[in-house]
Amino acid sequence: MNKPVAHSNLGAIDAAHHLHPFSDMKKLNADGTRIIHRAEGVNIWDQNGKKYLDAFAGLWCVNVGYGRNEIAEAAYRQMQELPYYNTFFGTTTPPTTLLAQKIASHAGPTLNHVFFTNSGSEASDTWFRMARVYWKVLGHETKTQVIARKNAYHGSTVAGASLGGMQWMHEQGNLPIPGIHHIGQPYWYAEGGDLSPEEFGLKVARELEAKIDELGEENVAAFVAEPIQGAGGVIVPPETYWPEISRICKARNILLVSDEVICGFGRLGSWFGHQHYGYEPDLAPVAKGLSSGYLPIGGVIVSDRVADVMIGELGDFYHGYTYSGHPVCAAAALENIRIIEEEGLVERVRDDIGPYFTEAWRSLADHEMVGEAVNVGLMGAVQITADKATRRRFEKPDDIGTLVRNQCVANGVILRATGDRMLASPPLVISRSEVDQTVETLRNALDWLKDNRPE
Ligand SMILES: *Cc1c(COP(=O)(O)O)cnc(C)c1O
Repeated sequence: MNKPVAHSNLGAIDAAHHLHPFSDMKKLNADGTRIIHRAEGVNIWDQNGKKYLDAFAGLWCVNVGYGRNEIAEAAYRQMQELPYYNTFFGTTTPPTTLLAQKIASHAGPTLNHVFFTNSGSEASDTWFRMARVYWKVLGHETKTQVIARKNAYHGSTVAGASLGGMQWMHEQGNLPIPGIHHIGQPYWYAEGGDLSPEEFGLKVARELEAKIDELGEENVAAFVAEPIQGAGGVIVPPETYWPEISRICKARNILLVSDEVICGFGRLGSWFGHQHYGYEPDLAPVAKGLSSGYLPIGGVIVSDRVADVMIGELGDFYHGYTYSGHPVCAAAALENIRIIEEEGLVERVRDDIGPYFTEAWRSLADHEMVGEAVNVGLMGAVQITADKATRRRFEKPDDIGTLVRNQCVANGVILRATGDRMLASPPLVISRSEVDQTVETLRNALDWLKDNRPE
């Protein structure tokens, strides 16, 4: 089965013609690209026939695992019947409409409408405009400012990167755009100092209140956050954080936007992250697990509160994409959700493989190089430390993560590093023995780091 790819010189072609996202191209071209040409279940194979356990589900997205022919067939049937039609001029297509209904059925009682996009980034741009339009229609012309968090990730378009809190992204392209403000993140391990996690959770949540006061409540449209920051390093907030954020948004009358692009569709053992934490967002961007990455599709789930204004009072919303609600992508997403429902994957993460992963993953906390090992469901992080007792971090945290990650990849397990945190986000179908293999491979890489630590 492990056939080599047809082009033996794909690497050279790639170096000559392909610019990769988030990559140092000079370094990548010198090191060579890994070419992935096949996948099945939780496994992927590269150009040399080497097999890897993909404990990162592609890029947080292949929730139902690889090799689902049902999704391919659903897309194929839809392509034959109707490969494309738009949803602009008073038209829709069956899978598009049924997908909106299906998403609403899982999102919670007040979340009943969906605006479709092709990605999470476009979902960021969409809700950003929608939030401002909402307040404008209600006569609050000045309610335009948006508060987000440092180290957040909301995509890579101009609005997405501006909302995100990655300074190194802002430095490329003069971002953020005006009207976006960033407050602290609930990253207790690195920033909590002498406070308990619970105290620290309240403290950073109250930065939202202080920022609203500083800007003036009459000028603030919305606050956006991921239930658990993903790309920022799987920053699991203390239990006190979300209830306080939710209280502040209600008290100050600003929209709460829950970026569910990673946490949605089962990853935390709930359909959506806000359900795990028990708050009700006004807007919820989604993508990734919506189609398990089989085809690109995203959207914004819209609460009745906002939809009533959009439908009842706005008139035309001058916004949308040629491929909003693309029928083939929608058909693939519908089949993906059917699989999640039929195989009980959300319940599996909540009651079975999630608890198993929790125990295995958190056993890494005993390791000398590990400061904390945290997770919710199948989303976990291991914090690497130079000194367990003082929570001291290595001089060059980025290099440390990369060293450990390369070690894992060389030993056949794909994990991601963000700085000095090792991240896991496996397909929801991962087996117990595959969880064991993931954790053991990471443990061995940490042993290796212990013997080869830089200072
Ligand atoms: C990946 C991601 C996005 C952006 O989605 P794209 O499909 O890459 O544009 C937005 N928000 C979060 C939380 C993400 O993880």
